[in-house]
Amino acid sequence: MKSIIAIDGPAGAGKSTIAKSLAEALNYLYIDTGAMYRAVAYQALQQEAPLDNAEQLGQIAAQAQLDMRVENGENRIFLNGNDITKEIRLPHISAIASTVSAVPQVREQLVPKQRELAERGRAVLDGRDIGTVVLPQADCKIYLTASLDERAERRYKELLGRGLPADLAEVRQDIEQRDYQDTHRETSPLRQAEDAKYLDTTGLSIEQVLQQVLQLAEAAE
Ligand code: C5P
Repeated sequence: MKSIIAIDGPAGAGKSTIAKSLAEALNYLYIDTGAMYRAVAYQALQQEAPLDNAEQLGQIAAQAQLDMRVENGENRIFLNGNDITKEIRLPHISAIASTVSAVPQVREQLVPKQRELAERGRAVLDGRDIGTVVLPQADCKIYLTASLDERAERRYKELLGRGLPADLAEVRQDIEQRDYQDTHRETSPLRQAEDAKYLDTTGLSIEQVLQQVLQLAEAAE
């Protein structure tokens, strides 16, 4: 399918780092689908929308003008013209994103946008349901994961690196809860596609993972 690479997996598995580097190496477009759910979460919070009001959350997703583009080598996301790249990475947004992403009305709005973005081909998408639901015909599917401890450690270091206060035990608990929500929801739960390659990155460096993923992508071409 026009050179589409789907990378799915749980929070903190390194999907975005790998997907971004892979896209750069192949000169593909990188589409961060998690950022879209995060943007809806951000907007829901701005509007003080009740998180149990599925219709309202669906409307927010429908009305959100999302624009994702690369500026100075950095992926940026704009919501209704405002740059919210930094804001959507805050830990409380991660938790709300996991909640709003379980709402079918929200997914109904975002999944077609993701397909549209990938339509031209030569794209790497990362998320939870890319290989299973969004683009099941993707040429190359990878399920990227790592142990809970390692994923928590990576996310903790990432937060500290961005100058944000963080507590390792709390980060671990947040990830564990998000894993549970993402794998147990009714609509498009996180699971490995039957034809996805399983890649456990525990103990591997980014460079090592990238090499393996590049081999998988090249083998699929
Ligand atoms: O990948 P990231 O951590 O940025 O995603 C934030 C949240 O968005 C995830 O915890 C998940 O609940 C949701 N998500 C999803 N489907 C995707 C991408 C992300 O449900 N394709």
